[in-house]
Amino acid sequence: MKYFSTRNINEVVSPANAIVLGIASDGGLFVPDDIPHFDLNDLINCNSFQLQTKIINAFFPDIPHVADLVEKAYFKKFETAELTPTKKVGKFNVLELYHGPTYAFKDVALCMLPQLLSASIKVLGHEKPVRILTATSGDTGKAALSGFANAENLSICVFFPYDGVSDIQRKQMITQRGNNVHVAAVKGNFDDIQSMVKKIFVSSKNLDLNYNLTSANSINIGRLVPQIMYYFKSYKDLVDREQISFGDHVNFSVPTGNFGDILAGFLAKQIGLPIKKLICASNENKVLTDFYSTGIYDKNRDLVKTSSPSMDILISSNLERLLYFLCKDDNYISEIMKNLESTGKYQVNQEIHNKIKDEFWATYCDNFQTQNCITNVWNNHNYLIDPHTACGWFAAEKYVDFTGDNTPMIVLSTASPYKFCTSVLGALGANFEQDGFSQMEQLNKISGVPIPKNLANLKNMNNIHNNVIEVSQMKDFSLA
Ligand SMILES: *Cc1c(COP(=O)(O)O)cnc(C)c1O
Repeated sequence: MKYFSTRNINEVVSPANAIVLGIASDGGLFVPDDIPHFDLNDLINCNSFQLQTKIINAFFPDIPHVADLVEKAYFKKFETAELTPTKKVGKFNVLELYHGPTYAFKDVALCMLPQLLSASIKVLGHEKPVRILTATSGDTGKAALSGFANAENLSICVFFPYDGVSDIQRKQMITQRGNNVHVAAVKGNFDDIQSMVKKIFVSSKNLDLNYNLTSANSINIGRLVPQIMYYFKSYKDLVDREQISFGDHVNFSVPTGNFGDILAGFLAKQIGLPIKKLICASNENKVLTDFYSTGIYDKNRDLVKTSSPSMDILISSNLERLLYFLCKDDNYISEIMKNLESTGKYQVNQEIHNKIKDEFWATYCDNFQTQNCITNVWNNHNYLIDPHTACGWFAAEKYVDFTGDNTPMIVLSTASPYKFCTSVLGALGANFEQDGFSQMEQLNKISGVPIPKNLANLKNMNNIHNNVIEVSQMKDFSLA
């Protein structure tokens, strides 16, 4: 197995090197030269750990002892032994991806990535450790800190906007323990911080540092591949409960931002999982819905702040990988990505557009519909969902209404409702308090759903990282 850039198939690297590099030197994303194919029989009898081991072995054959890495990544880190349970809720099934250390689906990949990175550094015989730099608008920061804390040969710096995160998100980050973690609040907005991180990467290229710098965001193939597992696990759960028979098709509805999660679903299908449609759910930042209907990707619009902030994205980076898989033409991808950089938009040809329509369906959900959806799912099923999951549920309903397709539906639930108390309490008609911790208690009283353990304990934890810095000080902080 080799990896190459979506923009130049002659830029070839080993699997371990693709993980360490994160992104190709031409700005393209690494893709495998061959997609493994599994016999469904081989996968369906595995538990989550075994599934993850098989999938990672197949995509990264040069990384040894994968079963041990998987064990280290997940054992006792999740609140459920099976990692990602699927619940039957009304006419749909909900795949709960939020039982990890920070209660968002990003934990599934960000627990695994540090193990893959450490192992890759060893395989490559690099003598320098790796330092991760991450700008966060809230969620990714804590999930990355938690995944990377105390990982061998790695250290991590996380920057968050001083005024731009919730009380709980701040507390989650500044209480993170670990001898290799560094956290700073920065006096700037997310875009300022993100741009500065990119500048630090570029301007440090020729410096003789004691470590190599890389990023942990979802363009890293080592973050994408570990997300394939739960599609299989959820399918197996439905078979075990006799809701479907072995070999039946299912649909998945996926709340989408950077297109990583749903692309993992597409890969699950290529590997052999019988998926009929992948439903791409967006919020009011509906670049992907428009792309689906017109074949034109156009990011020239204002970013809207919504109640599902982790999907407030105008450039869905992982879409580039999908387009490559659909056309296998690196020159074509290179050309349209140049268009995206220079004009903010591109149009795909009819052949690609048709293939997308075969595999996917897409719609979006506005703030009002999101609130309504949380209310309805609670009233009808006594089941609490967060605003991101609500977009997925809404899209699934719309798909069924529109197509009449009754294939069993699995909605991916990407965050605990306790991470978004304000929206959820609002949807339940409660007059809520300002303080985030009081809101959690309030939501607990109304719903009876237990507060996740790490969130409940957070209030009493010591603040460790009290740094507040200027954007101009970020480089010194990163390289210290
Ligand atoms: C990141 C995130 C998403 C979007 O996932 P992508 O892989 O970026 O498409 C959806 N919901 C939540 C809660 C997230 O944190």
